[in-house]
Amino acid sequence: MPAQKIVIYPGSFDPPTNGHLDLIERASKAFAHVVVATLRNDSKRPLFTVAERLEMLREVVEPFGNVSVDSFEGLLVDYARSRGAKLILRGIRAISDYEYELQMALMNRKLYPELETIFIPAAESYSYLSSRLVKEVSALGGEIDDVVPPTVARRLREKHSKL
Ligand code: ADP
Repeated sequence: MPAQKIVIYPGSFDPPTNGHLDLIERASKAFAHVVVATLRNDSKRPLFTVAERLEMLREVVEPFGNVSVDSFEGLLVDYARSRGAKLILRGIRAISDYEYELQMALMNRKLYPELETIFIPAAESYSYLSSRLVKEVSALGGEIDDVVPPTVARRLREKHSKL
């Protein structure tokens, strides 16, 4: 598949939210193939293990025929090279996201000049939504069923009942 047709959507996805899912759906319509790649990074002290995040992502991308799931560690540019991809997708929720995302995109361009970062704006209805907020609300017993896929809501409840 030509490199320009594959887009990598990297992130922590700890856990995936409806905001991530909205972006995946938009990308699946715009690109031939989307790889949702979760980062193996324990320094972020994730709530879900990489295996759990991969399982949740696999379940939520199942309806899309052209979306696959993977994990990576180390530099995103090295991972993109290894997958033969030249496009990275990131979501922008608010102007506050943009500053950090721009820095990262420019650093990645420096490291791998042929790599382009594409930004897709978040759906207005999910623009306030983050994995961190979902975890906080869920930990305190709040209702999260409208903002995450059902498999994620179930796993969040399980996690917090065990904590
Ligand atoms: P990271 O730790 O790499 O920021 P996240 O899982 O928090 O990982 O986010 C991955 C990508 O998804 C980022 O580009 C982020 O801006 C985007 N994103 C996160 N939440 C939403 C949302 N509600 N709507 C659209 N994009 C989002």
